[in-house]
Amino acid sequence: MSATSDTGSTAVVTRFAPSPTGFLHIGGARTALFNLLYARHHGGKFLLRIEDTDRARSTQPAIEAILDGMRWLGLDWDGDETYQFTRADRHAAVAHEMVEKGAAYRCYLTQDELAAMRAEAEANKKPLRIRSPWRDKTPNEEGKPFVVRLKAPSEGATTIHDRVQGEVTVQNSEIDDLVLLRSDGTPTYMLAVVVDDHDMGVTHVIRGDDHLNNAFRQLPIYRAMGWPEPVYAHIPLIHGSDGAKLSKRHGALGVDAYRDEMGILPEALFNYLLRLGWGHGDDEIISREQAVEWFDIDAVGKSPSRFDLKKLENLNGHYIRAADDSRLAGLVAARLGFELGESQLDLLRRSMAELKPRAANLLELTAGAEFLFRTRPLELDADAAPLLEGAARSLLVQLHAALDAAQSWDTETLEAAVRTVAEDAGVKLGQVAQPLRAALTGKRTSPGIFDVLVLLGRDESLGRISDQMGVPA
Ligand code: GLU
Repeated sequence: MSATSDTGSTAVVTRFAPSPTGFLHIGGARTALFNLLYARHHGGKFLLRIEDTDRARSTQPAIEAILDGMRWLGLDWDGDETYQFTRADRHAAVAHEMVEKGAAYRCYLTQDELAAMRAEAEANKKPLRIRSPWRDKTPNEEGKPFVVRLKAPSEGATTIHDRVQGEVTVQNSEIDDLVLLRSDGTPTYMLAVVVDDHDMGVTHVIRGDDHLNNAFRQLPIYRAMGWPEPVYAHIPLIHGSDGAKLSKRHGALGVDAYRDEMGILPEALFNYLLRLGWGHGDDEIISREQAVEWFDIDAVGKSPSRFDLKKLENLNGHYIRAADDSRLAGLVAARLGFELGESQLDLLRRSMAELKPRAANLLELTAGAEFLFRTRPLELDADAAPLLEGAARSLLVQLHAALDAAQSWDTETLEAAVRTVAEDAGVKLGQVAQPLRAALTGKRTSPGIFDVLVLLGRDESLGRISDQMGVPA
């Protein structure tokens, strides 16, 4: 496959290559995002490869969670995703080609011999770097099991000009003769990554810096095959707010948990992940279009960024306030746990202007909206019930009469009516508003009480008030 554009210059091709062994966690989502933005910024392609070569650990639910999470975040990849396992024959063919070229060799070390080498390295407190005696032998071992090993360079040094890490050099004596093909003929991860990246025309490998060491083990494969080497950009991992490596405790959840359990909007998580390790001046709110326009990998910092849940919630509040009311109504409706009719959905949509300034996430937005659909007589929340004790009920009787007499049902008229009741009773507005709120919503907190009256409408409001007036003594 060629990555050459019409002008003859190499077009940018990036990829995200998750192993489907778990959900799409936020570190992976950020890697995918940076790859997407780099490709889009340069008018190139962003590909997706599912690295399911490890059959024992790859699962179908994990694949689905990854695809679902990427779609939700708008990390749209070009073309169909590639499944690495389906390419195993091609990987094996490359390994055999490398043997023919003298860049790899068949190694007949037995398990016992390997164990002895491991024990020796351990005794000398040295990492095990295998240089098999078969490296320079011409084997005559027909029928015996073998693995194919890379004939790693042993002299000199390899330098990578990493776009994030800068110049990194490793002595070639540190690079082992890693296994390319196992004795059952299956390819190793290290081989599969390189073959796939080459065949997919990947020009830029942008991934977590936990893979930096692998780059030094992968480059000899490119060189042996005479393939163009990709540009590397190894981005620092995300750390928790305390500086330790991100774990579940810090919020290292799957993106589905941010969506489902935390009520985060995709554009908020997109914006948040973008700012994790990359910046554009002091800009906090960055749209997708701006991100594509501004993103460049060189501006990614070298030090790990810290995950800050509070910041994510603040951004989410911003995006909720900015979101279209019909869309929010749809999202809230799906969370209510019961079916809404057309008019109820409309009520929900009309309520958004009042509800959304108070919500940092969809859970809060849903909790705020739920009073609209409580059925009469309302069951009061435990903390709201005391608001209707004592004199409150007689105030409700007066409120009912005053509101019933209102000439029109708009916030000004209703406010005037409620104020008059307070004045006549010689109490502050709040002392009337609180029992009214409890009666109308069953809750202690809600949007402004006059807005609540308007949203519920005349009949429902008067009905809810009257339900709580009690039987007059
Ligand atoms: N499959 C690897 C992972 O999920 C990524 C490999 C790569 O990006 O080169 O960590």
